[in-house]
Amino acid sequence: MTQTISHYINGELDAGSGGRTGAVFNPSTGEEIARLHYGDRATLDRAVSTAAQAGQRWARQSHAARQAVMFKLRELVIANTDRLAEIIGREHGKTILDAKGEIGRGIEAIEFACNEPHVTKGEYATNVGGDIDVFSMRVPVGVVGIISPFNFPIMVPVAMMAMAIAVGNGIVWKPSERVPSAAMEFARLCEEAGLPKGVFNIVHGDKEIVDGMLEHPGIAAISFVGSTPVGEYIYRKGTSHNKRVASFTGGKNHMVVMPDADLEAAASAFVSAGFGSASQRCMAVSLLVPVGQATAERLRELVIPKINALKIGPYNDPAADFGAVISAQSKQTVLRAIDEAVKAGAEMVIDGRDIKVAGHENGYYIGPTLFDHVTTEMELYKQEVFGPVRGIVRAASFDEAIAITNLHEFGNGAVIFTRDGKSAHRFMSEVEAGMIGVNVPVPLPVGYFNFGGLRRSKFGESHMFGPDAARFYTKLKTVSQRWPNPDQQAMPVSLAFDA
Ligand code: NAD
Repeated sequence: MTQTISHYINGELDAGSGGRTGAVFNPSTGEEIARLHYGDRATLDRAVSTAAQAGQRWARQSHAARQAVMFKLRELVIANTDRLAEIIGREHGKTILDAKGEIGRGIEAIEFACNEPHVTKGEYATNVGGDIDVFSMRVPVGVVGIISPFNFPIMVPVAMMAMAIAVGNGIVWKPSERVPSAAMEFARLCEEAGLPKGVFNIVHGDKEIVDGMLEHPGIAAISFVGSTPVGEYIYRKGTSHNKRVASFTGGKNHMVVMPDADLEAAASAFVSAGFGSASQRCMAVSLLVPVGQATAERLRELVIPKINALKIGPYNDPAADFGAVISAQSKQTVLRAIDEAVKAGAEMVIDGRDIKVAGHENGYYIGPTLFDHVTTEMELYKQEVFGPVRGIVRAASFDEAIAITNLHEFGNGAVIFTRDGKSAHRFMSEVEAGMIGVNVPVPLPVGYFNFGGLRRSKFGESHMFGPDAARFYTKLKTVSQRWPNPDQQAMPVSLAFDA
């Protein structure tokens, strides 16, 4: 029997009043495994007012009390990693090992959020003039709306939410409708950790709920992660409703390989960072940019056998390197991108279109596909392809490699492989990407650093993870205070400025 997934409001499962439902699939088999209730505005209203009331009470708890819940939550996520990984793999299609990796990065965000008192405490200056002391304080924004993508059902939303909760906000989370179950498990863990009922709420759905969140006067801040067109829309609409919005969007990450690099290491890095999780990562390496003809030829020789050795299989096959893409529709989009690249004249080096996974014939599998001689005019260079299709864009010089990297509209991550410090330094200075790797293929920073892209990979001036998250989820107040001296006469009236 197909399972039904409800909203989670005020600590209770709640079918809502929307009436609409949608199917949730297991991408490894193509089977429908659940029906998801889609919320409506009335359901959202209830979640927002619950989050507002419970959030206010939560914010009044001491820092130590809130920290204790975050520490407990960290322990519970660690203890439940296997269970969470199974839930993620079943709905997403990524391997269990990969799912555990993302949970680990989510735990980092919780660990950093345990430092909430340190990152939110203010500044103080005594006697700035006339016995006045000035100090700053940070208070929670109120209700935070979280809108998350399918590709990291735990890491991404937890990276946004951990600090939002820790500083004392109420939360309304709309998970991706394609991977809703990890959210429900996270809710259970929050409850077990002692987070008071109503602080954390989930409303499932699609654009209808997102629009409701963007327009809702009770929501003060929106954190979004997803594709660029949707993220730009969310940023514009959310800010027009006077909310602070942080929108983290698409990536097309270049990996430049210099002739002096360890080419064997660079080839392995390209294959793992390029094809891991069926390339459904915003930090995946999409394009390999070898500098010079000899580097390109040697790298191509090295990557081909490594790519051909990759095993594709269901999420729970321990031997699989990567699994299915998220949906039948996504598979069609990726296959179309392959056909277009062929038509545009890119050289197909490895063709993954006809892959069959025995016993899983209806799963959404695509084998690893590699194109060489991709040019910056081709759609394969321009578009983010969220599936295992990677390209080689050859550069004649380092100057050209930097130009190719900077020409792209996205600037999430960019990576250089080299043994030369000067090249590395030039790369990090001149390349317009928010996260740079030097001989590190996936430069996803640790949880206590800020995470976020540049150009059209991010809208709004904030970051995930690190200290910026604490600033984003709090409002700053600056207080000037003077205490009357009981022995003194009343203050003289003066209309001069700054008296
Ligand atoms: P998506 O944009 O389709 O969906 C993201 C969220 O927005 C989902 O919750 C979805 O329900 C909602 N949504 C979808 N269409 C909408 C619409 N028209 N109006 C309002 N809301 C809408 O993204 P996805 O396919 O779930 O995720 C993949 C994308 O996310 C990729 O582009 C990837 O690069 C990006 N991503 C970026 C980062 C980052 O940190 N920059 C991290 C992970 C994923």
